[in-house]
Amino acid sequence: MNEVNELEKLISNINSFAIVSHTSPDGDSMGSILSFYNILKELKKDVDVFVDGQAPRKFNFLNGFYEIKKIEDAKSRYDCLIVLDCGDEERLGNCSDLLEKANYIINIDHHITNTKFGDINIVDEFASSVGEILYGIYKHFKFNISKNTAECLYTSIASDTGGFKFSNTTPKTLKTIADLIDLGIDFTTIYNKIFDVKTLNGIKLTSLVTSTIQLHLSGKVATMYLTKEMLNQSGATEDEAGELVNIARDIENVEIGILIKEVEEGTYKLSLRSKDYFDVKDIALKYGGGGHVKAAGCTIKNTSIENIIREVLEDIKLKLGE
Ligand code: 5GP
Ligand code: MN
Repeated sequence: MNEVNELEKLISNINSFAIVSHTSPDGDSMGSILSFYNILKELKKDVDVFVDGQAPRKFNFLNGFYEIKKIEDAKSRYDCLIVLDCGDEERLGNCSDLLEKANYIINIDHHITNTKFGDINIVDEFASSVGEILYGIYKHFKFNISKNTAECLYTSIASDTGGFKFSNTTPKTLKTIADLIDLGIDFTTIYNKIFDVKTLNGIKLTSLVTSTIQLHLSGKVATMYLTKEMLNQSGATEDEAGELVNIARDIENVEIGILIKEVEEGTYKLSLRSKDYFDVKDIALKYGGGGHVKAAGCTIKNTSIENIIREVLEDIKLKLGE
């Protein structure tokens, strides 16, 4: 708890903050950064919140969404940078510039692969989400948790637990959710916005991506890919389709689902998911990425989709002892 006490001192003594998460932010990132933004705003602190690239529009119901800044709008100095849900500095993308602009760096995360790059590191790999860690911290500091903040935390936790069904969901997770619901949030609407609402273009993109599904290794592995051309053809942004990689993982008898996304020519981002027993983090780590046992990712450069599938299947085969 020492680091938490240090953080408390820091927050009460200083005034200027920047908040950021990883590039291509997900629900945990968005909910976490906006929860801290709301907390610090309500404490009358001077605070800027950043996203590298486009913030996913589906989270625009969160208070503070329209105040999110681009890295170009950053001030020259901040007393403190709060980095949330981000395992290493590289995952900040263009927002890594903020690391040079801050006197203190606070790193709050739940990735077992976290490199502890902050001056204060609060990393709890047993927490379902950063939202769950932050709820504990805000309670410990006796911060007032407004309805706006509660909505952000609910979004974080619901997103990273797949709607409270992944194995990272614990009694503590659900007790936290119970407390948040007690604060009067409209959880049905939020749940629906996170998991159910899709655009027509998003559905078209899903159809293009699922048409690339291939099964390998006696049906234990399902791969699929998403190219820039598919984004053009469908008119969708990637987040409009929802968690596409889950579709691969959810196929009957599949243990590992893999989505290969084209970032630019020759560069691909991999999303890996497992169902029961396989540690996908080990595969991601081999390519300089990271994550959790059942959800991990990495970026591979100077390659092709065919090469990635071949190489990763070899890695998986080796790990399975086949
Ligand atoms: P996703 O597939 O949704 O992008 O990521 C799944 C999990 O792996 C998330 O917890 C995410 O933070 C982590 N992850 C994805 N890509 C990377 C990466 O390039 N580096 C690291 N360290 N973690 C990653
Ligand atoms: Mn997370």
